[in-house]
Amino acid sequence: MSTVDQLGNHHRPRGGAAAGQFAAKGQTPPETSLSEQQWPYPTTEFDDGARAFVDEDGENQTCACGNDSFTNDWVAADASGRISPDSQGSADPCEHTVCPSCGLVYLNEDLFGAAETPARPIARFDLSDPRFREALKAYEVSVYGA
Ligand SMILES: [Zn+2]
Repeated sequence: MSTVDQLGNHHRPRGGAAAGQFAAKGQTPPETSLSEQQWPYPTTEFDDGARAFVDEDGENQTCACGNDSFTNDWVAADASGRISPDSQGSADPCEHTVCPSCGLVYLNEDLFGAAETPARPIARFDLSDPRFREALKAYEVSVYGA
């Protein structure tokens, strides 16, 4: 019986490389750089005090920038933050909603409860980034046929 795994395929740590990496150093992962890596588009700084508000009936969401659902309808993004028509109207708390006017990204879970507690944005996509603009355009074509 050999103890050598020639391919090494079964030695990958569960949870990906980052967890093992930080465990080995005995450090907690730096939150900012980790969250930046998670997003599919470049992010920019945003006001830490920014909050989104939602009407009591949940129909209208108003972003920290002042844009609301009736002015420039919010864009749905999947759990990784990637803009996706498949996530439109999602009831998944782990998916995201993006304000197309300012790029702020909210977790659906936070928006669902925003009638009582205003939702805090967790990131802001760079509106000038070509990849973001392309994804936004593709989304609008898919959803609105425009
Ligand atoms: Zn906004």
